[in-house]
Amino acid sequence: MPTTLHHYVNGDRVVGRGGRAGDIYNPATGEVTGRVPFASSAEVDGAVQAAKGAFAAWADTAPLVRARVMFRFRELLQRHTDEIARIITAEHGKTIADAKGSITRGLEVVEFACGIPQLLKGEYSENVGAGIDSWSVRQPLGVCAGITPFNFPAMVPLWMFPVAIACGNAFVLKPSERDPSTALRMADLLTEAGLPDGVFNVVNGDKEAVDALLAHPDVAAVSFVGSTAIAEYVYRTAAAGGKRVQALGGAKNHMVVMPDADMDQAAEALIGAAYGSAGERCMAVSVAVAVGNAAAPLLERLEPRVRALKVGPGTDSDSEMGPLVTRQHLERVRGYIDLGIKEGATLLVDGRGLKLQGYENGFFIGGSLFDHVRPTMKIYQDEIFGPVLAVMRANSFDEALGLTNDHPYGNGAAIFTRDGDAARTFVNRAKIGMVGVNVPIPVPMAFHSFGGWKRSLFGDHAVHGPEGVRFYTHLKTTTARWPTGIRAQAEFSMPTMR
Ligand code: NAD
Repeated sequence: MPTTLHHYVNGDRVVGRGGRAGDIYNPATGEVTGRVPFASSAEVDGAVQAAKGAFAAWADTAPLVRARVMFRFRELLQRHTDEIARIITAEHGKTIADAKGSITRGLEVVEFACGIPQLLKGEYSENVGAGIDSWSVRQPLGVCAGITPFNFPAMVPLWMFPVAIACGNAFVLKPSERDPSTALRMADLLTEAGLPDGVFNVVNGDKEAVDALLAHPDVAAVSFVGSTAIAEYVYRTAAAGGKRVQALGGAKNHMVVMPDADMDQAAEALIGAAYGSAGERCMAVSVAVAVGNAAAPLLERLEPRVRALKVGPGTDSDSEMGPLVTRQHLERVRGYIDLGIKEGATLLVDGRGLKLQGYENGFFIGGSLFDHVRPTMKIYQDEIFGPVLAVMRANSFDEALGLTNDHPYGNGAAIFTRDGDAARTFVNRAKIGMVGVNVPIPVPMAFHSFGGWKRSLFGDHAVHGPEGVRFYTHLKTTTARWPTGIRAQAEFSMPTMR
C-alpha cells in the first residue's frame, strides 16, 4: 500500500487538506510507493506564518545556542545516515553508496554552520573620526524559502537551511515532489535536535506551492536549485517582488582532455563523472573535449568501460549506476539518443536496449556514448541529465576553451593535463563557476561556496560557505559617537577625518 506523506509545520506533521496530490515511485521497480500532498496557497501561508511567528525569538537567540542545535543535528544526521540513504535510494534510485556520499557532503555544511558565532563576528573600527567608532554586523533576513530539485534530496536542502537557520532566519522548504521523504525526515531530526517549533517547515507541492512562496509578502529570500527555465522564472518573479534570490540552474559540464593527460586516469574520471548517479547530477560531465590526438587513446579506454557499466537497483552493492528518476525522464533521455543519431553523431554505445531481469518495469537505461558531436547539435546544446556522454574533437587548446566558454551554461568544467601552463590558462580564462584540474567534478567544500556562471546561476550569490552567510544576512554598519568629548556642531559639508 502506498504511504501518504504530510507537510511539516510548527514542529509537527500536518496532513494535506485533501487537495491535489502526486505519486512517488520506486524507480527500480516502477511501483507507486507513496502519495505526496500538494499544498494549496493557503497551506503555504500556514507554513510561512509559523516561520514568521518563530523568527523573532530565534533571531534573538545567541548564535552560540543556535550553533549547539546545529551540533546536535549534525550528530543525528550522522547517526541516521544509513536510514536516510535508504530513503533516498527508494525514491530517487541512486546507489546507496552514492546516497551516503551526498549526505556526507550535506553534513559538511552543517559542520560549517556550527561555526556561526565566528562567522557572524563582524568588523569593528575604533576612531574612524575623533571619538567616533564604527562597526558592521550581519543580521538575519526573516523567513527564507528553499525550493529544491529531485537529484539531491538531502544535499541540496542541506546547502541552504543549516546556514539560513544558523544565521537566525526561519525557513520554509519546498522539496521536489518526486522524492520528498528525505526532507520530512530531516525536519523530524531538527526538532529532535532542539530546534524551536516553526523555525524549519516543509511544504510539499508543485508549481502552486512554489508560486505561493514567490508571491508571499512575508518571504524575504528565495533559494532555488533546479532546471534553468524554472530558475530564471523563479529569479525574475521573486526579484520583481523585492525578494533576495539565488537561483541555480542546469549545466553542460565540459572536460577537456589534453594529449599529454594520463589517459587511464582521464578515462576513469570520465566514467565516474558522466555515469555516476545515472548522469543526474548538475556537476556531471556530459561533454568530453578531446584535444589533438587525445581522442583515439581516450575512446579506446572509454568504450569498453561504458559497455561494462554495472547497471542495477541502487540497493544492490554491485551496481555502479541505478535507474532514472521517472518513466517520463527515461523517455526524454531515450529521445535525446534518438535525436543524436538523427543529427549525425556516432553512437558508439547504445544504452536504450537495456533489460534487467526482475526489474522490467524499472526506469533503467544503460550508459550511452556519442562520438563526433558538433556544437550545432541539440544533444550538445541541451542538458540531457542522463547517462549520455558526448565526445567532441578540438584541434587545439584554444578551440577546446572556446567551446567551454561559448556554451550558455557555466556550472563546472575540468581540464586533464600534465602541462601546468595549459592548466593555469584554462583556470584563468574559463567562464565557469567551478573549475577542476585533473579533478572531474570540482564541487567546492562546504567552507567554500558552490555556484556557476552564465545560465547556471541567476542572482549574485552562490550557496553555502561565506556566500551563504552573506546571502542569508543583511549588513548593518553603525557609526557612533558619545557626547563626552568634543561637542557636536551642525556640519553642512561632507564630514571628513581631520
Ligand atoms: P525542476 O526545475 O523540474 O524542479 C526543481 C523545483 O522546481 C522542484 O521543487 C519543482 O517542484 C519546482 N518546479 C518545477 N516546475 C515548476 C514550475 N513550472 N514553476 C514553479 N516551480 C516548479 O528540476 P528537477 O528536474 O527536479 O532537477 C533537475 C535539474 O536541477 C537539472 O536541470 C539540474 O542541472 C538542476 N540542478 C542544478 C544544480 C546546481 O547546483 N546548479 C544542482 C542540482 C540540480
